[in-house]
Amino acid sequence: MSFGPHITRRDFLNGVLLSLGGMLLGCRTSPRVSLDNGSLASWSVPPDWYGYGGVGDYRFSHGNTPEAVETAHRLRDGGFPADFTQVEVIEEYDLVIVGAGIAGLGAALEYSKKRKPGQSCLMLDNHPIFGGEAKENEFDVGGVRLFGPQGSNGFFVPEAVSDPDGASGDPRYYAELGVPREFRYRDWPSEEKPLGFSPDNYEYMVRGLEGYTSVGHFFGSGVSGEGQWAVDMWERQLANTPLSEATRETLLRWHASGATRRFGSDEEAARALDTMSYEEFLGSELRLGAEAARYADLFLASACGLGSDAVSAYAAYRLPMPGLTEPVPPDLRRVSFPGGNSGFVRYFVKRLIPDAIAGSDSFEEIITGRIDFGALDRRRQPLRLRLRSTVIGVEHEGHPASSGSVKVVYARDGRLRAVRARAVIMATGGWMNRYVVRDLPPAHREAYMQFIHAPFLVANVALTNWRFLYRLGITAAIWDREEGDFGYTCNLRKPMLVGDYRPPLDPDQPTVLSFYTPFHRPGLPLRTQATLGRTELLRTSYPEYEGQIYGQMMKLFAASGFDPGRDVAGLILNRWGHAYSVPFPGFFGGASGRAPRDVIRTRHGRIAFAHSELDGLQHWGPAADEGRRAFNQLADAI
Ligand SMILES: Cc1cc2nc3c(=O)[nH]c(=O)nc-3n(C[C@H](O)[C@H](O)[C@H](O)COP(=O)(O)OP(=O)(O)OC[C@H]3O[C@@H](n4cnc5c(N)ncnc54)[C@H](O)[C@@H]3O)c2cc1C
Repeated sequence: MSFGPHITRRDFLNGVLLSLGGMLLGCRTSPRVSLDNGSLASWSVPPDWYGYGGVGDYRFSHGNTPEAVETAHRLRDGGFPADFTQVEVIEEYDLVIVGAGIAGLGAALEYSKKRKPGQSCLMLDNHPIFGGEAKENEFDVGGVRLFGPQGSNGFFVPEAVSDPDGASGDPRYYAELGVPREFRYRDWPSEEKPLGFSPDNYEYMVRGLEGYTSVGHFFGSGVSGEGQWAVDMWERQLANTPLSEATRETLLRWHASGATRRFGSDEEAARALDTMSYEEFLGSELRLGAEAARYADLFLASACGLGSDAVSAYAAYRLPMPGLTEPVPPDLRRVSFPGGNSGFVRYFVKRLIPDAIAGSDSFEEIITGRIDFGALDRRRQPLRLRLRSTVIGVEHEGHPASSGSVKVVYARDGRLRAVRARAVIMATGGWMNRYVVRDLPPAHREAYMQFIHAPFLVANVALTNWRFLYRLGITAAIWDREEGDFGYTCNLRKPMLVGDYRPPLDPDQPTVLSFYTPFHRPGLPLRTQATLGRTELLRTSYPEYEGQIYGQMMKLFAASGFDPGRDVAGLILNRWGHAYSVPFPGFFGGASGRAPRDVIRTRHGRIAFAHSELDGLQHWGPAADEGRRAFNQLADAI
């Protein structure tokens, strides 16, 4: 197999240098309390772990950074001091928001609208750039600028509302931020062979919408590299697949199943369906064999982290999945900004700190403008956003019921600092909050213990050309995974044109091929699936993933002319150790309606909790709603 040594070696070396740079920063000593006494290595990831980050503002922050992984593991293992009394408070704020993902930004937006004169807020985030799971990658392939999403990437344009304050979720923020409703795309030339493209990284797996994309299913023969492609197999009623008659019948029946049960309200649906997994629903109520559940895993694990055996039938009903709802109406198309949902993040940031993104507040400039990092944390601005700051301790000063303040300790540039706040919003996940909030009540702790977080890997491969896909007549691929395979699916998005950002749509021109890769292992206990997946995600080096991904591409595409040495221009790995909170049966309260997330949504003294994990189907609008709810819970404490 010939890899592109000139390209991949350069990428690999970039990764080594970046990781070493990060570690050196982490080890620097300072006159204040030092973060480390020399034992950082036991929590370090190897230097060949992080890899190439592309170009532009996001190049130092793709997925979890080595520093974020190291600090999280150190927290888990009790590697920080038991008490922080010797860490001196150097600043005071009315509000501190921990986490600058969409939940934190939703809290900040509410603060900015309701703040009283003179009030101040500090946001702290542990990554080199804001956005959490909604960030972007940027490549420069021979002078062609290309973006791809790091994680969160698509949405349906929500209904228009005239009174945003009276709405919630996507419609509220869409209207409030002034996001446009019409977009321009590069057209596929009519003289070329007909090809369909997904606007995002999901649509080609969504029943009812998959027909818009030229999807190839690869069925391996068991001999490496040998197999058969079935293009547009659903449209052809699976007649072009090597599947047995019985499997075809099962899959077609599953695919055609509409809403087999009716519910008077969403609450009624939750009580009835949140008692079983989607796989159980398919088996017990539709009498469908496991083949349907395994095919459904493709979409469910991409959207929720684990598959049909793990995901509540109620979550499947909301997504929506066959057997529980009718197909998505074909006029409802997905949309994805060039960098995915980092577009929404940039809208929030532009509203909150206008100088943070160069240019006006037009769609074009918000999406493509460069970030002015110096504008984020300026003295005297009512909202300051401080990056590369990992919060490791949050605790009331005194008893939570009567205390007037909270002390927040964070690590930055290798040393510990503390700020005092009248109130704190933890816009971070439970896997962190359990360790960070030191006076967390037992009920919150127990509730958090019930959450299951699944890992996810988004690998973006920049290509110099995609003629090997064109020859096959596809723009998305799904493979019947065999022993030793990498991933399950990959696709090219239809390029959105935004201002000067004008990516080509030509099989002989550059593009980004995205692999959205979950780590589900159907049949194993859910926590075991998540832990095994996370171990694999965190232990595999960048060169190992490079080998696996190009090896998989050779298996799928060598026969149609793929050559990694010629066709690959770069690979960015975006690793998310706790990507999704899995909506397992009971997550929404099961038959009784008592859900762990309801406990987390209760205020603890001067601290409130907000994260998309509480919604159960992580999504940008509900994430911002969680932040808004948390701010309003604390408004009287600020
Ligand atoms: C692969 C993938 C695909 C997705 N696709 C979509 C999609 O298509 N559409 C959609 O709407 N949603 C999608 N999502 C869901 C996405 O998670 C949410 O929409 C949303 O972006 C999450 O925002 P959040 O603020 O809740 O969490 P996060 O994005 O996790 O933000 C939390 C922030 O807090 C930081 N943090 C954590 N601990 C600390 C600490 N101790 N100190 C300081 N900072 C800390 C984190 O690093 C992060 O920056 C996807 C998610 C993934 C992983």
